[in-house]
Amino acid sequence: MADDAATGPLPAVDFLKIPEDGEPYLEGYKCGDCSAVVLGDRPACPKCAARGALEPFKLSNQGKLYAYSIVHRSFPGIDVPYVSAIVDLDGGGTVKGNLIDVEPDPEKIPFDLPVEVVYADALGRKDRDGNSYLSYFFRPRA
Ligand SMILES: [Zn+2]
Repeated sequence: MADDAATGPLPAVDFLKIPEDGEPYLEGYKCGDCSAVVLGDRPACPKCAARGALEPFKLSNQGKLYAYSIVHRSFPGIDVPYVSAIVDLDGGGTVKGNLIDVEPDPEKIPFDLPVEVVYADALGRKDRDGNSYLSYFFRPRA
């Protein structure tokens, strides 16, 4: 047998963190001056312009649906329709991602729908070395 060193999946986006021993989570940055939460490190806070005040911040896995669109046309190999959503996470942070486990029907998807972040394989995509990717999705909270 070839060596099957059990490397886990790779994060599909750089703000998805996979600790060695623990659950995956999304990471944002929080401003030490005004408490704004943003995605992605940057030299100054986009809200209050404080420099060097942003610190890594573990985002909540719970939030509410802020906006979405039902996508009917996409790249080859991507199943449509799917729901592209923008979610306000509890405690701060606004994240875009796909909303799953819903019917792609505007009548069935209310704004402010409580959702949770779930982590799952990124649609079977693999890199050149055969590593799979872990991605995140939103799903309605039970
Ligand atoms: Zn700030």
